[in-house]
Amino acid sequence: MPTSQHYFSKPDAVEQVKNRLFKQLAYYCCALHTFLIFFFWYCDVYFLALINIGSVTLWMLGIYYLHQQKSHISLRLFCVEVTLHSILVCATLGMTYGFQYYLWTIASLILLDYRLKLKLASALALGLVIAFAALFELFDNVQNTFIFSELAPYIHFINVLICGLPSIYTIGHIREITFSHRYQLATLAAKDPLTNLFNRRYAKELINNAQEDCLATSRQMCVIMADIDHFKSVNDKFGHDAGDEVLVEVALRLSRFALNSDIAVRWGGEEFLLVLINCDLEQAQTRAESIRCDIATQGFYGDTLNVTMSFGIAQWHPALPFSVAVQLADDALYASKAKGRNCTTTTTAGHTSQLS
Ligand code: GH3
Ligand code: MG
Ligand code: MG
Repeated sequence: MPTSQHYFSKPDAVEQVKNRLFKQLAYYCCALHTFLIFFFWYCDVYFLALINIGSVTLWMLGIYYLHQQKSHISLRLFCVEVTLHSILVCATLGMTYGFQYYLWTIASLILLDYRLKLKLASALALGLVIAFAALFELFDNVQNTFIFSELAPYIHFINVLICGLPSIYTIGHIREITFSHRYQLATLAAKDPLTNLFNRRYAKELINNAQEDCLATSRQMCVIMADIDHFKSVNDKFGHDAGDEVLVEVALRLSRFALNSDIAVRWGGEEFLLVLINCDLEQAQTRAESIRCDIATQGFYGDTLNVTMSFGIAQWHPALPFSVAVQLADDALYASKAKGRNCTTTTTAGHTSQLS
């Protein structure tokens, strides 16, 4: 079952919608069948009145299990009730009232019982569809003495509507939940949860795509490696939570600085990587300097602490492997640290220059 993984996990969104839907449906059906007991008794169709007493009992039992959080048992009871009820009503009144369509609805709802294996649920659904077809062979010529038989077209119309609505409602809801789950999963797989920047694993995929694109279009790229200076002492002096806030704020400033086509990554602890597309070394240096100055001059953590960052910038010819460009940027960053931090060092393979 794709829901709770732990004793303390709460039912997931699909289970919650299912429970809510079943509760509404169960109360509505309970009330309807109670009314039908009296109605059929009044019409002298005692057999159907008795069937409705059985139905109310099953619906109430289903409601009991819903309140016990056992929606799978409720669903099975509801399926048994609706199937038997629809077959018995067709046998008594014939096919003109449209009670056979409930078998279709149940055939699709039974697939929502996640405790059943898909094969078994599909086999049961198929059985219901076959039963639907068989009803026409068995009961198409039933003559009934129901006193409201002139109402047959209206009852047929209402039954078609009632049978169609649960399918539309359920599939519509599952569609929305699937969309939002897909979005959540994609975000979880791609982003670092603290800073909301791309994580290293997903960024590598993006960088690969960017490399192919730049190689095909002969565009230049630059890699910037940036690291917060003496970050350990920020944690030591202000606490880990303050350190986290600094990381979030740094990530925010880096994202603001990045253009749409740039790739901003939380590379590791307090280390960030930026891949600048269609950008030469000089432009990359100007841009890195502007973010370095912004970080060094605008305070953090409610303006109570100052943070600086060191930068290493490498030009990346997309024909070279990404690992080579990262190594160059890393070496340049190391040079910035060695020269006293809070500065920017650029490198092309074989030539390094520093700015502060
Ligand atoms: P340097 O200037 O040489 O880079 O010194 P540094 O102190 O920044 O570097 P060092 O590698 O000694 O320490 C990095 C620190 O970053 C240690 C680690 O606890 C902290 N850190 C890593 N990830 C996180 C995080 O997610 N949150 C917080 N608050 N701290 C983190
Ligand atoms: Mg550091
Ligand atoms: Mg570091």
